[in-house]
Amino acid sequence: MKALQHLRTINHHKWLVMKGCFKVGLYRQGLMHDLSKYSPTEFLVGCRYYQGTRSPNNAERESTGYSKAWLHHKGRNRHHYEYWIDYSVNPGEGIVGQKMPTRYVIEMFIDRIAASKTYQGENYKDTHPLAYYEQGAAKLGRMIHPDTAKQLHFLLTMLAEKGEEETFAYIRHKILQKN
Ligand SMILES: [Zn+2]
Repeated sequence: MKALQHLRTINHHKWLVMKGCFKVGLYRQGLMHDLSKYSPTEFLVGCRYYQGTRSPNNAERESTGYSKAWLHHKGRNRHHYEYWIDYSVNPGEGIVGQKMPTRYVIEMFIDRIAASKTYQGENYKDTHPLAYYEQGAAKLGRMIHPDTAKQLHFLLTMLAEKGEEETFAYIRHKILQKN
């Protein structure tokens, strides 16, 4: 039964992200979002460690020390800043987050809204995604590029202050300059 629950969770998440991406005009990304979750490497782990209230990757990590599903996922999905972690061209810097293309920062933003909605349920408010990000941001260090962090924080702040409709319209018309 966990397989069905897991399937329902990822389908629902994809649906929420797709609605958001379509509102801002990112149709292809809306359709392709998180498709690797249906691959056996990610799907079977998701079924086995299904939690309902948090990501199964956390449970896999606690049980084996690391999450194979997450390593598979973040290597294939460009809307995660972890996908963009690479050696710096500046030899003194080591491994750092590279600047993400804007359209993936926007998909990451929409992904975070969807995740907050799923975990907060009826209690969800437009301020939650910002609060969640701020609570973890200090720990990210150089793993996220400063420009990417700034762009994400800007969007999350706008969401908290002006709401979803106004922020999505701003992204569509002003940032992506679509009609
Ligand atoms: Zn993802």
